[in-house]
Amino acid sequence: MGSITLKNVSKVFGAHAVIPSIDLDINDGEFVVFVGPSGCGKSTLLRLIAGLEDVSDGAIVIDGKNATELPPAKRGLSMVFQSYALYPHMSVRANIAFPLKMAGEDKAVIDKKVEDAARVLNLTDYLDRKPRQLSGGQRQRVAIGRAIVRQPEAFLFDEPLSNLDAALRVNMRLEISQLHQQLKTTMVYVTHDQVEAMTMADKIVVLNRGRIEQVGSPLELYHRPDNLFVAGFIGSPK
Ligand code: ADP
Ligand code: MG
Repeated sequence: MGSITLKNVSKVFGAHAVIPSIDLDINDGEFVVFVGPSGCGKSTLLRLIAGLEDVSDGAIVIDGKNATELPPAKRGLSMVFQSYALYPHMSVRANIAFPLKMAGEDKAVIDKKVEDAARVLNLTDYLDRKPRQLSGGQRQRVAIGRAIVRQPEAFLFDEPLSNLDAALRVNMRLEISQLHQQLKTTMVYVTHDQVEAMTMADKIVVLNRGRIEQVGSPLELYHRPDNLFVAGFIGSPK
């Protein structure tokens, strides 16, 4: 199902090797967090997985198949961004239905999937509203709903909560974790926030200047950081 393997993946912009070479295994159903300081290459790595950027070298294998050359729509992944990118003139229902409509699904199937997603995300009472009539958290849930209806092999999140205020962020963290428990779909989640990484991840990938410093569970990184960068970034006492 939703396994993702990066083999020797690199990305060069002009003369700048933003990602020199990365090998990584993401297992089906895992909640994997990419964490690291601003500019370390988290978004670039996620965009390479999504197919929004081409790799300079290496291979991306999704669900056992070489996906390196596949366009984004053929990779079976759904991406959720920091900016919700909702259509302001369309209702919540139409926003969530949009990818299914584009895929040419039957109206009955679309209605069912939209209602199922709305139930999971507590949006049932808001389906006829416009995005401007929603709170920030509700808008982000609509964006997640639009990702869910496609029933992806994996969800890719790029700092989805960084536009929300602190209290709401804590709430949404919990909601996304619960969503993961419910759907059991692979989630790859980018953040620069250590607390988010520590509380949400099965597996954390610590990035620094386009390289992996360490991969491990939150407890492993906290108790056995490989180096001072990881110790400093995760905040363990070493
Ligand atoms: P992060 O998401 O961790 O903050 P990014 O992946 O956005 O980091 O960026 C990593 C590095 O790659 C930065 O130095 C950034 O300036 C550079 N970069 C990202 N996208 C491009 C691009 N399209 N062209 C040139 N440089 C880029
Ligand atoms: Mg980024």
